[in-house]
Amino acid sequence: MRILVTGGAGFIGSHLCQALLEQGHQVEVLDDLSTGSLENLEGLQGGRNLSLHVGSVNDAALVERLVSRAQYVYHLASAVGVRLIIDQPVRTIESIVGGTTVVLEACHRHGTPFLLTSTSEVYGKGSRVPFCEEDDTVMGPTSTRRWSYACAKALDEFLALAYWVESRLPVTVVRLFNTVGPRQTGQYGMVIPNLVEQALRGLPVTVYGDGTQTRCFTHVADIVDALLAIPHHPETRGQVINLGNDQEISILQLAREILKATGSSSPLEIIPYEKAYGPGFEDMHRRVPSLEKAARLLGYHPRHGLPEILRDVVEEKRRKLSR
Ligand code: UDP
Repeated sequence: MRILVTGGAGFIGSHLCQALLEQGHQVEVLDDLSTGSLENLEGLQGGRNLSLHVGSVNDAALVERLVSRAQYVYHLASAVGVRLIIDQPVRTIESIVGGTTVVLEACHRHGTPFLLTSTSEVYGKGSRVPFCEEDDTVMGPTSTRRWSYACAKALDEFLALAYWVESRLPVTVVRLFNTVGPRQTGQYGMVIPNLVEQALRGLPVTVYGDGTQTRCFTHVADIVDALLAIPHHPETRGQVINLGNDQEISILQLAREILKATGSSSPLEIIPYEKAYGPGFEDMHRRVPSLEKAARLLGYHPRHGLPEILRDVVEEKRRKLSR
């Protein structure tokens, strides 16, 4: 198949492209290289079957050309990372809502199946764990910039599902939970790459808040397996599906595991949220996915735990630092 991956030069996108190429597909990448990079695509096997188009998902003419010849569209292009979202709220909203609208309109014109990578952020401040796909979303005030990301992604979900309801355009929405692995950069705030880099450099390892907040981390390889499976499961059409890992860990414990995995003697530094992200910042205390629907529709069960995640991230960051 000829497959379009928007955001294909990003962290998750590049792993997806690699897997699609290994399956023998022709892969077209549309990426503006804002948070993605050429380096992520370097050395992908099957490179002859890969073409990169540097441009924006907001460029309707370019999107139309690429979608018209694609048989499937994975839409991953998006602003990412709490740090970037807080620093660049206009870009966040415009790229997420505007870009998805353009891609969906083109898919609608051509009847091309579409997969949207959404996020566990859309559950917002929901406190009933685990989070099930049909649960209410609980957003904070519009004056708190973080929620613009969750709301923009929720609007993307509404739009994708609306195309399914009105036109039977085959769409699937996946909500990704804290996906981690090689090629993810700590630059936009993500905790694991950030803390691993700090530990390897002997810098203080920064724990925000009091460190009792928890997350469930997913190896990118598990997410890619699920993304590859979805087009082969028609029952996923018109559905929203959580993808993640349900093993929960506090950030303080995570920091200790990172010190162990790196053999670092860096000190832990507890930093109040206001100092890390500015006044009025809100964090989620717990975020745990229900994976029941993914298991039922896709036979999805994550195969990698935190030890494998830390092993792979530490190995990659070590290699990069020694260069
Ligand atoms: N975090 C931290 N130190 C850092 C970066 C993040 O303690 O250097 C915390 C952050 O406040 C949050 C958790 O780690 O509670 C996960 O943050 P991340 O930005 O990776 O993902 P998200 O908040 O979107 O789950």
